[in-house]
Amino acid sequence: MKPVTRDRISPAPTSRTALAGLATVLLLLVAGCGIVAPRSMDRQGADSFEDDISTARTLTEQFWTQHFQQLGQTYRPIADFIPYSGTSGPSCGQEQSVANNAFYCPIGHFIAYDQDWMESLWSEMGDGSVYVIIPHEFGHAVQAQLQASFRLNVQMELQADCYAGGTLSALVGSGALTAEPGDEDELLLSLEAAGDPTDNWLDPAAHGTAEQRQSSFATGYRDGVDAC
Ligand SMILES: [Zn+2]
Repeated sequence: MKPVTRDRISPAPTSRTALAGLATVLLLLVAGCGIVAPRSMDRQGADSFEDDISTARTLTEQFWTQHFQQLGQTYRPIADFIPYSGTSGPSCGQEQSVANNAFYCPIGHFIAYDQDWMESLWSEMGDGSVYVIIPHEFGHAVQAQLQASFRLNVQMELQADCYAGGTLSALVGSGALTAEPGDEDELLLSLEAAGDPTDNWLDPAAHGTAEQRQSSFATGYRDGVDAC
């Protein structure tokens, strides 16, 4: 896999959060071992990991709140947002949480994430990792509200990827985050350059192939969540 040219998304003036490495971030959707990614380039003392996590949640829920209003519906915020370490996370019904994962639980309407895993991605791949994974999980929270039955399968995962792309582009479009010219092109190029999924979060049997995930994310990014 070739290294991805680092692009940058900068915070809007009113935001203290910088989202960097959108292109690299997207590799998270599809990447396996052996990624060589430059470190985030906007770390000059700006945001902590906790800042990025919190802002990703806030902006994503702001987006969906507004979007539901446009649909004449009311978005229901998640009930809880739970960091955990390793296997100490909350269970979801009969399902125990696992290390190196983030998930939405429809029972209780909460999102939980392995904070050690997330922070290692944030450190190694840039803060944008948070801005893909968190909106993906919120995509499931949205599915649970818009669909009669909630059962995870590949189609649901791909739709969550699409929602994540649509959320991110909407935040850029609204000025909540700002992107430099060419970001979208780099995004799509980097999607094409992505490698093989190997770990759980990236399991193609569960989430779709790399190509499917790239395509879904790109559809959302280009055309918005209504295209998902
Ligand atoms: Zn998912």
